[in-house]
Amino acid sequence: MLDILRRIVQEVNLANNLEQALNIIVRRVKNVMDVDVCSVFITYETEADKEYVLMATDGLNPDAIGKIRMGEKSGLVSLVGKRAEAINLADAAKNPHYLHFPVASEEDFHGFLGVPIIHHRKVLGILVVQSSKIQKFNEDDETFLITVAAQLAAAIVHAEASGGIIGLKQNENEKELETKPIHGLPGAPAVAMGTALVMYPPADIDAIPDRHIVNVEKEIDHFNQAVEAVVKDIKELSARLKDVLPEEDRALFDVYLLMLNSQAISGITQERIRDGNWAPGALRQTIQEHEQVFLEMEDNYLRERADDVRDLGRRILKHLQEDTPEQIEFPDNTVLIGEDISASMLAEVPREKLSGVISVRGSRTSHVAILARAMGISAVMGVTDLPVGRIDGRTVIADGYSGRVFISPSKKVIDEFQRLIDEEAALSDELMELRDLPAKTEDGIEISLLVNSGLLSDITPSLQSGAEGIGLYRTEFPFMERQKFPSEEEQRNIYRQVLESFHPRPVTLRTLDVGGDKALPYFPIDEDNPFLGWRGIRITLDHPEIFLVQIRAMVRASIGLNNLKILLPMISDIAELNEALGLIHQVYGELLEEGDEVVMPQIGVMIEVPSAVYQAGNLARRVDFLSIGTNDLTQYLLAVDRNNARVASLYDSLHPAVIRAILQVVESARAHDIPVSVCGEMAGDPIAALLLLAMGIDSLSMSVSSLSRVKWVVRNVTRERARQVLSEVLILEDATAIRKYLNETFENAGMGGLVRAGN
Ligand code: PEP
Ligand code: MG
Repeated sequence: MLDILRRIVQEVNLANNLEQALNIIVRRVKNVMDVDVCSVFITYETEADKEYVLMATDGLNPDAIGKIRMGEKSGLVSLVGKRAEAINLADAAKNPHYLHFPVASEEDFHGFLGVPIIHHRKVLGILVVQSSKIQKFNEDDETFLITVAAQLAAAIVHAEASGGIIGLKQNENEKELETKPIHGLPGAPAVAMGTALVMYPPADIDAIPDRHIVNVEKEIDHFNQAVEAVVKDIKELSARLKDVLPEEDRALFDVYLLMLNSQAISGITQERIRDGNWAPGALRQTIQEHEQVFLEMEDNYLRERADDVRDLGRRILKHLQEDTPEQIEFPDNTVLIGEDISASMLAEVPREKLSGVISVRGSRTSHVAILARAMGISAVMGVTDLPVGRIDGRTVIADGYSGRVFISPSKKVIDEFQRLIDEEAALSDELMELRDLPAKTEDGIEISLLVNSGLLSDITPSLQSGAEGIGLYRTEFPFMERQKFPSEEEQRNIYRQVLESFHPRPVTLRTLDVGGDKALPYFPIDEDNPFLGWRGIRITLDHPEIFLVQIRAMVRASIGLNNLKILLPMISDIAELNEALGLIHQVYGELLEEGDEVVMPQIGVMIEVPSAVYQAGNLARRVDFLSIGTNDLTQYLLAVDRNNARVASLYDSLHPAVIRAILQVVESARAHDIPVSVCGEMAGDPIAALLLLAMGIDSLSMSVSSLSRVKWVVRNVTRERARQVLSEVLILEDATAIRKYLNETFENAGMGGLVRAGN
C-alpha cells in the first residue's frame, strides 16, 4: 500500500498544473480502490463566503467540472469541509444534507466517502469516492483515503501555486478567481514585485527550472553535443573496465548507449525543446517522467533501472552546464528564487537589478535574510510550498512583511501592491529625514538605536543610517565565508575596520556563535538536536585555542580606539561565564605583558536561554551589560524551532511569556545598575520597540533597514503613553491578542505604515 501511495504522490508531484495533478489523483485513486467514482472538489474562499468547486472527476459526467459549486451551508461535500472529518454513508441520497446536481449524472451511485484535504490546518478541498452499491465503505478504504488526502495536500498546493486554479470561470460575467498567495516567513520588511529568476546549485537535476527559449536550433545542438559527450564518456568507461568486468556486466553500458540515443530520452527531450523549453529544463522533465515509468514497474530489476535513467540525466546535465557556463541575464526588478538561496548567490545579482529574494528554506534569521534587511530589499523565507521549477520568468510579488508570495498575480493584486510600493517609497523618503535627529520621546526620554551587523558590506549603510553604534556584530559571518578558521591577524583586520569606521561610537563584537543552524564548512557538527547541542559559548569554551585567538584579535583591534565591547552568546550557566571571563582576563594580561597598550573592554552576556533569565541577577553582578537575544529566547521559552516553517505561527516574540521574561531581565539589570539592550529581531519591530521603550530598555540593536521606522515611533510617543500601552498588553493572554491590540493602536495613531506594507 505504501508503495502505491508513494507512486501516486510522485506522479502528482510531476504534474505541470493543478488540472493535471487532480486528474492523476482521481484516475489513480479510482483504480486502486476499485470504486465507481472518484472526484476532487477544491475550496474557493472569498472574503464573504466559501465554495467547494468540482475540479476533477473520474466517473461523474465531466461536463459537471467547474459547474458543481456548493456553498458552505449545503451539500455533503461542504459538510465534510465544515467538520474537517471523513463522512462515510451507505446511501448518500438518503442523507438530509445531500444536494442533487442533475448535471453530475450520479443517480446510480449510493455509497459515499468524502475526506478533507488539509494543509496547515486549512481545508484545501475534498476527496470523494462513490460506489453503485448501497453500502458503507470499509475501514481500510476510509483510512487509505485519509492517508492519500494527507499526502496529497502539499502536492496540490504546489500545483495550485504554479497557476492552475487561476482563471477558472463559469462564464464571462463571473469574477476572476483571486490569485492565492503561498505562505512563507517574513524575512525582510519590504515589498518586491518583479520577474522571478530561479538560481540552483549545479548538477542537481531536480532543481532545474523550466525556462523559455527562442533559439530552438541552437538549444537542440547544445543538447545533442552533451548527449554525444556522454556517449563518448560511456564508451571510454566500458573500454577501461574491459579487463575488470566480465562481458555480460559490461552489457549495461550498451543499454546506457541505447537509452541515450532512444526516442524516449533524446527524442522526447528534443521535442520539449522545440516546444520552447531550454535544454536543462526539457531534460529534467524527460528524466523525471522516465524515472517514474520505471518506478511504477512491478519487477524489482526493472524498477531499479530508474537509477540508471537518473544517472544518465545527471551526466547529460553536467555536460550541458560545463559546456556553456550560464550567462545569467538579470531582468530589472529581479526577484531571486531558489531552494536554498545563499548570501553568495544574492551577491551575484547586480544591486540595481535586485528587488527581493524568496527561499524555500531558511528563516528571518538566516544569513541571506539578514543580508536582505541590510540592503533594504524584501525577503520571504521558508516558502516550503513554492513550486520552484515552474516559476522562472514569471511575475512574482514577495511581501516581506507578511511572508506572502504571489505568482503570476491578477491585475487587481498587482495594482494593490504597486500602490503599497509607491506609498512605501514615499514613507522611506520621509523617514530618511530623521537620520540625524536623536531617538528621543516627546517627553525627552532617549534610547540608543544601534545596528546589527556581521558583514563588512553592511558598514557603509549602517554608518549612513545615523546609528549610534553597533549593538551586535555577529563574528561568525566572516568565519562562514572562509575555507578555514581565520588567523588572529585576519580577524584583527576585520574587527579593526569595523571599530575604526564607527569610532568613537561603541561596537559590540560577539564571540563566535556557531552551531545550531550556523555551520562552518570546515568545522562540521552533526547532531540530532543542534539547537540544544554544541552551540555558541559551549563550543568556544571546549576549544579555548579558538576563543583565545578571537579575544586577542578583538582586544588588539581596539588599541588606540577603545570603543570595543565584547558579548558572550548562549550563556546558560554561571560557570560558563566565569570560565569565559577567566580566559578574557588571561588574554588581557598576556597582551599587557607583551607591551601592547590595551584597555580592558566592557563585557556583556546575551540573555537568550531561559536559565539565563532566572539567573540574570547573578550574571549581571559579573559583567558590564546585558543584551537580550529575543530570537533564541523566544525559541527556547516557547519550544518552537525558529527556522521551522511548520511551527512558524507559534513563534512570536510578543508571547506574554517572552514579554514577562524581558521584564524580569530589566529588573535584574536595574538592581545591579548595569545597562540592558535588546539585539534580537524584536528590537526592529516597531510595535515591539514601543513595549521595550516602556520597559526601560536602554538600547535597541536592529538591522539597518528597521532603524528609521523605530526612530519614528520613539519620536512620536511619550514614555507615559508607551507605559499605558504596556500595561494594557500585560493584561492580554496570548500573542495574537497582543499583536492585534498593538497593530490597532498603531493604526489609530496614524502609524500603520510602519507595521505593514504601504503607509
Ligand atoms: C538572538 O538570538 O536574538 C540573537 C540576536 O542572536 P542570533 O540571532 O545571532 O542567534
Ligand atoms: Mg542567538
